[in-house]
Order: sequence, then C-alpha cells, then structure tokens
Amino acid sequence: MKKLLLVFMAFILTGGAITMAKELDQPFAKGEINPYSKFFTGTTHLQMLVTKDDTWNSSIGNVTFDKGARTNWHKHSGGQILLVTAGEGRYQEKGKEIQILKKGDVVKIPPNVEHWHGAAPDSEFAHISIESNLPNNETSWLEPVTDKEYK
Ligand code: MN
Repeated sequence: MKKLLLVFMAFILTGGAITMAKELDQPFAKGEINPYSKFFTGTTHLQMLVTKDDTWNSSIGNVTFDKGARTNWHKHSGGQILLVTAGEGRYQEKGKEIQILKKGDVVKIPPNVEHWHGAAPDSEFAHISIESNLPNNETSWLEPVTDKEYK
C-alpha cells in the first residue's frame, strides 16, 4: 500500500512538472534563440516567415518572448506593424503610457518613433513583426528597458 502511494505521488509530481513546462500555444513556429538577443532583455525566439526580397519588399518574423522578456528601446526608420498571436504583452512609445497587448491586437508603429515591446511580467507572449517600407527601413537599437521602466 505504501509503495502504491509512492507511485501515485510520483505520478502527481511528474504531471505537475509537465504542466508547468507547457509551450505557449501559438499558430507559428517558435524558431531558434533570437540572433538579435543582445538588443533584448530576457530570452526571446525568432522564426523568420518572409525574408526580404525584391518581390514583396517585406520582412516578416514571429517573435516569442519568455515572461518578462522585452526589446531594448529602439526605432524603425520605415515603421513596423505588430500582430499579436498569443499571450499577454506590453508596448510603449517614449513619453506615453504602457499598453497591454492581447491576442488579435494590431500595433502600427510609425517611422522613427522610439518604443519597446515585450511580454507581460507573468505571461509568455508572441507577435508577428512586419517591417514595412523596405528597403528603406533601418532599425536603430538604443538602451535596455530598465526594470523600473518596465514595472
Ligand atoms: Mn519595434
């Protein structure tokens, strides 16, 4: 009876661990560790969906943020559009209030507006990033978003 109880306890503990490690449910592949990680705080992943070429002049990628992960402050000379696909996120333009982002939200970031985007402190987050107006769109990376700015 004692042995049976131990097996049962192990089952419960293992089940709990599996639940906690569950992947964010999102429509596009999570991809690999973001190659631009030095411009981010925390862990993010990137899966490119459309790479820049001469036909569509678009660069589209799926970005997945761990809880609390976010971009540095930055700006895009040709603007950017974010399509939120999963989790809860944050978006802020310099000098404005932080906005809460949910699945289905569309964020249109005008050219040269300083901003950051990322996950909520207690939720993973994923958005599609569309770089508009290619080939005239350069990203300028600035300082990290401090914990004080983020909270
Ligand atoms: Mn951006």
